Amino acid sequence: MKTRKKNRHPVRIVTLGCSKNVVDSEVLFSQLAGGDLAVSHEHDPGPEGTVVINTCGFIDHAKQESIDTILHYAREKGQGRIGKLYVTGCLSERFMPELEKEIPDVDQYFGTHDLVRLLATLGCDYRHELVGERTTSTPAHYAYLKISEGCDRPCSFCAIPLMRGRHVSKPMEQLVTEAGRLAAKGARELLIIAQDSTYYGLDLYKSRQLAQLLERLARVDGIDWIRLHYAYPSGFPEDVLEVIRDHAAVCRYIDMPLQHINDRVLASMRRGIGGHRTRELVERIRTRIPEVVLRTTLITGYPGETEAEHRELVEFVRQARFERLGAFTYSHEEQTHAASLADDVPAEAKEERKAEIMAVQQENSRSFNDAMVGRELKVLVDRKEGDFFVGRTEFDSPEVDNEVLIDAADSYLRIGDFSRVRIESAEDFDLIGVPSGRVPVSADE
Ligand code: SF4
Repeated sequence: MKTRKKNRHPVRIVTLGCSKNVVDSEVLFSQLAGGDLAVSHEHDPGPEGTVVINTCGFIDHAKQESIDTILHYAREKGQGRIGKLYVTGCLSERFMPELEKEIPDVDQYFGTHDLVRLLATLGCDYRHELVGERTTSTPAHYAYLKISEGCDRPCSFCAIPLMRGRHVSKPMEQLVTEAGRLAAKGARELLIIAQDSTYYGLDLYKSRQLAQLLERLARVDGIDWIRLHYAYPSGFPEDVLEVIRDHAAVCRYIDMPLQHINDRVLASMRRGIGGHRTRELVERIRTRIPEVVLRTTLITGYPGETEAEHRELVEFVRQARFERLGAFTYSHEEQTHAASLADDVPAEAKEERKAEIMAVQQENSRSFNDAMVGRELKVLVDRKEGDFFVGRTEFDSPEVDNEVLIDAADSYLRIGDFSRVRIESAEDFDLIGVPSGRVPVSADE
C-alpha cells in the first residue's frame, strides 16, 4: 500500500549517543532521501519542517542530554520555529510512557525497531532496495560498519539489551556489499561496531564468524583500514588474532571493554570472565600480534567496590599498559540486574577513582607516544585545524583516541589522504610530526 505523500516537509535528523545511533540516523537519512524528502543532519528545517531526534538512553548524563535536546526542540516547536517533532532511539524505546506523559509536545515517540512506522509518519515508504545503502554523516574517508544489532550478554550494569533487544547479526554478504558501497563513496577506513562484535555469526551461522568477516572486508577494494571495536573478552574468537596479524588492511588495534579486573566485581557484573583469564587473554593478544594497540573501557565505583578492589584495578592499568583507555563512573540504571544492589560508592569517590585511573593512563599514553618519536608512520589526514593538519595512525580511532599534529606551514596534505609522517615529538595524548612523503593509494606500510 503506497504511503500518502501528505506531510512531506523537510526533515532534520538530530543524532545523540554512540556510533550505532550514527549508523541508524544515516540509514534513516538514506531512506528519506530515497523518498525524495529534503533531509539534513545539520540544518533546522524551518517552521513547516520536521525534526527527528535519535536519542541515547545509556547512562545518566547521556539520558540528560537527550531530555535536554527534546525540551529544546519542544520549545522551538512552541515558538513556531519548527513544525513537527518526533523522537526515536534508545531513550524513547526505554521510557516511552514516561516521556509521553512528561513531554507531550512531541508529536510521536518511536522505539529502536520502528523505522518503517517512522518513515510512514514522515510520508515515506520503506525501500528494501536501499538496504546496505547509506549516506554517511562522518567525514567521507571513514565510516562505521554496524555488523549486528542488540546484545545477548547479561552484564549487570547495562541497559542496552533493554533498548536494543536480542543480538541479530547482519548477513555477511550484505556487509561486504555495504563496505564496497562505502568504499565507492570514498571511505578508506571502516570502523567495525556492534554491542558485542565478537558474538558475530553465532545466531545466523551458529558459529563465531568475526574472523571470516574481517578477512572478507580486508579484500574490499579501496579500504585501507578496518578497525575492530566492542570486542568482548569472554569467548573472544582467537582466530581473529591471526587475521589482524596477517592482513595489513586490518588495523593492529583491538577495542575490548573490560570494565574491571577484580574477580568479585567481575562476577557481580556477570561478565563471564575473571581477572586471571582476562590477564591471560591480554597477554596472548600482545604475544600473537606484535605492536598491537589495545583500547579498553573501565567502570569505577561499581556497587560494593572497596578501596582494595579499586587499588587492584589501578595496578592492573599500570601493569597492562593499555595504549588507549577510557573510564566511566558507575551509573545506577533501573531495570538492570545491578539495580537491586546498593549504589553505595559516593559520587565523589567514583570521580576520584576515575581521575586516578586516567592519571595512570596519561603516563601509559605518554610512554607509548615517546616510543614513537623518530619513527615514520602512515597517517590518515582527518582535517585542518589552524596551522596544523590533524590525522591519525593505525593505532587511533576517530573521536576517542590520540591524534597526530602535522605542521601545515610548509606542507600541503589532502584531507582523507594517507601521508607518511616522521614523528618529531610527543605529548601525553598527541604526536607532532612532519610529512615525509605521500602514501600512494592502498600502499602497505
Ligand atoms: S556486552 Fe554487556 S555491556 Fe556491552 S551492550 Fe551487551 S550487555 Fe551491555
